[in-house]
Amino acid sequence: MRIDIITCCPQLFESPLKHFTFQRAIAQQLLSIHLHNLRAYTSCKHGKIDDQLYGGAAGMLLMIEPVANCIRALQKERQYDEVIYMAPDGEPLDQNLVNKCSLKQHLMLLCGHYKGIDERIREHFITLEISIGDYVLSGGELPALILADAMVRVIPGVISDASSALTDSFQDGCVAPPAYTRPYNFEGKKVPDVLCSGNHKAIQEWMQQEKIDRTKKRRPDLLKH
Ligand code: SAH
Repeated sequence: MRIDIITCCPQLFESPLKHFTFQRAIAQQLLSIHLHNLRAYTSCKHGKIDDQLYGGAAGMLLMIEPVANCIRALQKERQYDEVIYMAPDGEPLDQNLVNKCSLKQHLMLLCGHYKGIDERIREHFITLEISIGDYVLSGGELPALILADAMVRVIPGVISDASSALTDSFQDGCVAPPAYTRPYNFEGKKVPDVLCSGNHKAIQEWMQQEKIDRTKKRRPDLLKH
């Protein structure tokens, strides 16, 4: 998978992209991430990329020109499966959408800033808009990283035990069962005996039941689907 990220703050990606999961995927050549600084695509001498809003509303908007220039330059190089704008009013991101996006080969992610982007960019270039939740952040960089991280960890081969990502919450419409590691006894609280029994079938049944009970208790909305 190749992900091209358009941003006015490429430095926000530096540390997260050094993280284990991204590095593993990149080292295995299952992923490449390319950052494109919007400031390199403006014709304005001083690198200006924002402008005032028509109608006199408060705040600034990313200018059309650098965004359009950057998208067009990338589209000349290759075909993109989706040109995604990270947007508070986009399609809510869930595991289903993550899994769908993770199957794509070429994705472009556009990070807005300030008050966002000009509506005409959305109309002309964007094929999918994704929101990470009903709250507003200062920029699309963290949302883009969240989407990228969630996609990368479900690409087969990135996480060493392939079944690990598939037994996480939301993959089968439930939250994950409780998990334990050593010590067996922590200040009087013991690990459920079944997990130490070596009985694989009993362990599977216990996990299935815990998963359902926990989902009913914490996220009954998931069971409706
Ligand atoms: N004026 C816009 C908010 C702009 S916030 C509005 O009211 O909807 C600036 C940028 O941050 C947006 O362009 C978007 O790219 C990003 N952003 C903010 N919150 C987000 C969210 N919940 N999901 C995805 N992207 C978000």
